[in-house]
Amino acid sequence: MNSPWRVLIVDDNEKNRDMLARRLERKGYVVSQVERAQGLLSRIQQDAVDLVLLDIEMPEVSGFEALQSLRACYSPTELPIIMVTAKDQSADIVRALELGANDYVTKPIDFPVALARINTHLSHKKAEQAQRESEERYALAARGSNDGLWDWNLQDNLVYFSPRWKMMLGYQEDEIGNDLQEWFGRIHPADRERVKSEIDAHQQGLTSQFESENRVQYKDGSFRWMLTRGAAVYDPAGKALRMAGSQTDITGAKVADGLTGLPNRLLFTDRLGRLIEHSRRHKDHLFAVLFLDLDGFKTINDSLGHSAGDQVLVEVAARVPRCLRTCDTITRLLDLSTTARLGGDEFAILLDHIKDPEDAFLVAERVLHALALPFQVAGKEVFTSASFGIALSSAGYEQPEDLIRDADTAMYRAKSLGKARYAVFDADMRASVIARLQLETDLRRAVEREELRNVYQPIVSLRSGRIVGFEALLRWQHPSRGLVQPVEFIPLAEETGMIRELGWWNLQTACRQISAWNAQQVGSNPPLIMSVNLSARQFLEPHLVKRIGKLLHDLTLPGGSLKLEITEGTVMEDAATAAQMLLEIKSLGIQLSIDDFGTGYSSLSYLHRFPFDTLKIDRSFTKMMGEAGASMEIVRTILPMANNLNLNVVAEGVETREQIAILKELQCEYAQGFYFSHPLTPSEAGSLLERHRSGNTFDVGNP
Ligand code: C2E
Ligand code: MG
Ligand code: MG
Repeated sequence: MNSPWRVLIVDDNEKNRDMLARRLERKGYVVSQVERAQGLLSRIQQDAVDLVLLDIEMPEVSGFEALQSLRACYSPTELPIIMVTAKDQSADIVRALELGANDYVTKPIDFPVALARINTHLSHKKAEQAQRESEERYALAARGSNDGLWDWNLQDNLVYFSPRWKMMLGYQEDEIGNDLQEWFGRIHPADRERVKSEIDAHQQGLTSQFESENRVQYKDGSFRWMLTRGAAVYDPAGKALRMAGSQTDITGAKVADGLTGLPNRLLFTDRLGRLIEHSRRHKDHLFAVLFLDLDGFKTINDSLGHSAGDQVLVEVAARVPRCLRTCDTITRLLDLSTTARLGGDEFAILLDHIKDPEDAFLVAERVLHALALPFQVAGKEVFTSASFGIALSSAGYEQPEDLIRDADTAMYRAKSLGKARYAVFDADMRASVIARLQLETDLRRAVEREELRNVYQPIVSLRSGRIVGFEALLRWQHPSRGLVQPVEFIPLAEETGMIRELGWWNLQTACRQISAWNAQQVGSNPPLIMSVNLSARQFLEPHLVKRIGKLLHDLTLPGGSLKLEITEGTVMEDAATAAQMLLEIKSLGIQLSIDDFGTGYSSLSYLHRFPFDTLKIDRSFTKMMGEAGASMEIVRTILPMANNLNLNVVAEGVETREQIAILKELQCEYAQGFYFSHPLTPSEAGSLLERHRSGNTFDVGNP
């Protein structure tokens, strides 16, 4: 600490003050003077005084009183006080020493003596201060030897940086001085103001500790993430005098994704930003961003659990880099603001220095191949694929986020084109994003504008060819686009939660319909059963069962006329709650059906724990029936097991006579599909029922 000492002279005699002040100044002290003891404390704080020369005899407030009030705030080492007395006043001297004065000098002042005493006390003070500082530094050091230490004297703005602090930034001991700028000048421009205000807040006593995560520039120009912690030392009036603390390198934790160890989004966008910058000056520098989203990842999570999902992600993170070059970067796109692992199956890849777009396509294909191999998870072989969106730097981007966004948009296109493929972003896609937003807006109004329609597809007994019931399927009569199919709006409705409203409309309408049809066919055949799809979102609604109960009651519809179709994913998400929920539904007499069976990963025996009545074989299996291969085998195993478990089976998507023959041979009892009928409008379905009531049946190949 090389700043000059500050001395305050308190004396009512101007001549004395001046003379002493001038001589002290000549010796290098900074001197301030006051003629009265009033307001002494604030003056001492304001001038950051190191030592006081205090005259005993003063009008109004005496030197003794002033001494007492100063000692109430400062210890003798914090603020040495030397009393100035008249000669031969030993009683005064004794009293002053008793009240905490450090020393005394007598008038007329013998300057060399006074100087010697002043120096003695200041060097005491200095030693004491150094001792305390080193103790505090030591305490900080004990926190972790990996931390760098800093100690900032707010009086002179000089900072002590420990050798470790400098080394963390790539510097030798003598390469960094003790100027505050050595620190602040290296903080990332985007973080600097924030750090300053966090420091300010602490110095003003607004926070109990200073703690900040910020980027600091390393010697080679790169930035490292530092966690800076510190605390201020305040004077009795609450003014911060010093601030000291530590610096920890958290770059590893900050830029890596904890699960996969991949660099995280921060690092990725940082690199991307620099490439954009570079390509502005070098027009021929081409790079690309690939946005990768796993297909069907939710199914893996839902049916095998989150830890299985995590294993898949870890394996993906290991496979993909093998398809890349060292100048490429891959990251997992986690939403940093949420702790929940949402959208955790998204990755972004930055391909630097590509010659032309073709290079990016090749990488995408390599990765597709790598991910097509099975994943070993929880003792099972799991398959997944990925959809890619590609955005090329040639479009002249300004912001890293824009590239990622467009690659994301292109990825959605790849998904809608059938997954396991890539799509390249073009301006038309922006238009389709806007169209999607428009669709969402339109869909919100669809219910109140009465644009929803139900169509009904018959479910047929393969023994008799008779209609046993219908599945209610939703359609949307859009004012300008015409009839919109579920694939176009159900996923959107599920994402946005609108499915709750849509689904309820469908359920109500279907119940009314079946109520009407059953009223017309009293006595003849057994009552028809209406199957209604229930999405996961609806299933989670707290008052669902009560609401359905009331609906049935209002329509005087027996529960047995209703069957709810639920997919595996819906029940697997939270099996315990789901089982409870299903039992409540069953208590209303309603039947339960597991829809799209075979597309998830759960086994039949697991499903047995839920009170299902019916199993619907997904139409993808029906479609491939008859062709030799895995599908056929699956159907062959499902049917006997389902029969054993007392589940009746409906085969979906039956289109041909051959399929019917095979299904009958495998003892599948019911079927639904275009072979019998497409989904019908209510009046078409009404006429169909009419014909069947007068004896018609579907041809199920009976002799
Ligand atoms: P799903 O529940 O599996 O419905 C069966 C789908 O298979 C229907 O498609 C139906 O038209 C179609 N289908 C029936 N027979 C055949 C056939 O022989 N060949 C082929 N290729 N397809 C056949 P749709 O109506 O387009 O519905 C698709 C999906 O949309 C439904 O699958 C269901 O998951 C969902 N969905 C429809 N309406 C609703 C609803 O009201 N609520 C909910 N949550 N989902 C619904
Ligand atoms: Mg269904
Ligand atoms: Mg289905």
